[in-house]
Amino acid sequence: MSATADQQQFSFQTEIRQLLHLLSHSLYQNRDITLRELVSNASDALDKMRFLSLQEEQLRNETPLEISIEPDADAGTLTIRDSGIGMTKQELIENLGTIARSGSLEFVKQLSSSAEQGKEQQQDQALSLIGQFGVGFYSSFMLADRVEVLTRSAREESGWVWESEGTGEFTIQPAEDLPRGTQVRLHLKEECRDFTTAARLKSILQRYSTFVPYPIRLEGEHINDQPPIWVEPKSQLSDEQYTNFYQYLTHRSDEQPLWHLHHSSDSPFQFHAIFYCPQENFESLGFGRTEHGISLCARRILVQHDCRELLPEYLRFLYGLVDSEDLPLNVSREALQDSTAFGKIRRVLVKRILSHLESMAEDQPEEYNSFYRKFGSILREGISTDFENRERLSKLLRFTSSHDDSAITSLSEYVGRMPEGQKQIWFLGGTELNSLKQNPHLEAFRSRNLEVLFLTDPVDEFVLANLGRFEDHQIVSIDAADVELPEVAEAEDADSSEEKPTAAEPPSGFELVLTLFREALGDRVEEVRKSERLTDSICCLVNPAGSLSSQMQKVMRMHDAEFKPPKRILEINPQAPLIQRLCTLVVSADQAGFIRDCGRELYDDALLVEGLVPDVEEQNRRRLRFLQELAEKRSPISS
Ligand code: ADP
Repeated sequence: MSATADQQQFSFQTEIRQLLHLLSHSLYQNRDITLRELVSNASDALDKMRFLSLQEEQLRNETPLEISIEPDADAGTLTIRDSGIGMTKQELIENLGTIARSGSLEFVKQLSSSAEQGKEQQQDQALSLIGQFGVGFYSSFMLADRVEVLTRSAREESGWVWESEGTGEFTIQPAEDLPRGTQVRLHLKEECRDFTTAARLKSILQRYSTFVPYPIRLEGEHINDQPPIWVEPKSQLSDEQYTNFYQYLTHRSDEQPLWHLHHSSDSPFQFHAIFYCPQENFESLGFGRTEHGISLCARRILVQHDCRELLPEYLRFLYGLVDSEDLPLNVSREALQDSTAFGKIRRVLVKRILSHLESMAEDQPEEYNSFYRKFGSILREGISTDFENRERLSKLLRFTSSHDDSAITSLSEYVGRMPEGQKQIWFLGGTELNSLKQNPHLEAFRSRNLEVLFLTDPVDEFVLANLGRFEDHQIVSIDAADVELPEVAEAEDADSSEEKPTAAEPPSGFELVLTLFREALGDRVEEVRKSERLTDSICCLVNPAGSLSSQMQKVMRMHDAEFKPPKRILEINPQAPLIQRLCTLVVSADQAGFIRDCGRELYDDALLVEGLVPDVEEQNRRRLRFLQELAEKRSPISS
């Protein structure tokens, strides 16, 4: 690089320098993505040009909007030329070197950590995503040891040349006589000279860029002159074509979509749509909120990239494209979204996607469940945001359940397994499946063979609380007071067990015992009452009807120090031997103090079972008293 008088030198921003270092030293096999990224940048620049000329008449001219790929074997260069919007000097400085994109740091971290660990495959995978991180241009340095960008902005009379060897610096100098748009000239590395062969270039372009909405020319030949796939009938498209289009939309080279949906409609609105579900839910992998959207075209011309308003938030994991003749071409983003056609198309699309999911759940339950395990965390948001489709969405939810805790089940399947007499749908929330299965509240359900949903994700509880009912069934946490156990359910086991736990009359004196317990506990509890649910345990705490479940209370406490949990109801099992004994003691007024103490002790135990802390000092004093009493009843003389 020879410095001339009007040449200015700049340093790359630190992250970009690191990125360039990694890229130029990478052993990455799939160098084809560079061409894909540069063509995609050219296509974006043409989009911007088209928008601009719609708005500003003086910028309209005859120059056709197109891309040309120009290999030069003798010079060892490959040029990607577009007649797009071009860049001013300031834009060159910012876009190609000094302003790091929001995603670039993350990308560099991923790339360097997989490079350090020598994980080539991971590095390959990361690299194939380069375009998503807004740093696609720099992949030029995988192919080239020197890159020139010759560009003239649509707003300027003369242009600029940006140049770099991909080390620490780049230079910019003025250039006369440049056409509008940008030429990226790659001075190919020795081992990348095959990128001047027309056949090689053509095959790459056909693989990645046939969907670019502007003509791409290679040595005069129009490479992408086939009609776009979304207007073609489904029957004429191969899986490969769908996959290629997915890879084009998502900038992912080696990935198949999890599923796709292609839908065309003529009335009441004409549109074509293709949607793709990706393999992975990047949100649940810790990448922050998914922000991609659907490309929106009007009469085959792109109106908006990443149109997020076309689908509700809970379908944000989908990629795709919608093309409609009923949409106005030449309007602002806001006006477009306010148009009736837009709103109606959106409604139809949502319904179409839901019915796709429904038939998948019906016909390919395994596939659906594995989709749900990945994307259910986003889909379920619809329950609280899409009132219109709430019922349909509720059927698409899946949960772990006591029926088979290695699988997931739908609410409809749960209802299908309900024994006669069961009116409610029950769930239990907790942090972890194994500890959840130990929860004492389950005992009554287990012994009666009743199914309980296990929710290890607190959001699922919010979803169910929000839903409230499914079909005619109230959805209730099993630690809530309003659990209604079916009468008949016990009958099944009745022959084998001699005593029916809840059917038996409580012993006389039981009411008096409860009264003493109430006195002892005062306003620490909402109520003390007979339990209909316990079989083995002596007592348990339940939440008053309509209040948050214990699990939700824990979540609330973590987020809000001020949160006051509701008072609980202490339920007592009248058949427990200790209670039966207390019922006989209660006739003597002398025993009242002891029975009250027992009530306090039982309450403290129930707190501990729930993971809550009783008043430890009081409990210690009481226990010492009990031990003292016991010790006094013993005799030193053996009997
Ligand atoms: P991305 O395209 O994802 O934003 P890149 O690193 O590929 O990231 O490009 C950075 C920016 O440089 C682009 O956003 C665009 O503003 C500008 N740019 C790149 N190529 C061109 C081009 N051919 N014409 C006009 N501007 C371009």
